Amino acid sequence: MEVIVQKMNKVYIEKRRTLGLYHIVHQSDCPIIPNNSDCVEMNSSPEIDATITTLKKKYDELEKCQVCFNKEE
Ligand SMILES: [Zn+2]
Repeated sequence: MEVIVQKMNKVYIEKRRTLGLYHIVHQSDCPIIPNNSDCVEMNSSPEIDATITTLKKKYDELEKCQVCFNKEE
């Protein structure tokens, strides 16, 4: 069996800061992505932590969604 490494080619980032503090990052299959989220396609950083590190340069404060990021842990 091939080990499936989680890829994150596309994420959604809420434009509105939660509690005025941070943007929530969602995976593309999350059921609670708000309609007004930014969709960001990642070409070269498929791993989640690398992706979020990259995105923090643009969005400064990010938090992983409690719904879509918890299911792997
Ligand atoms: Zn989510």
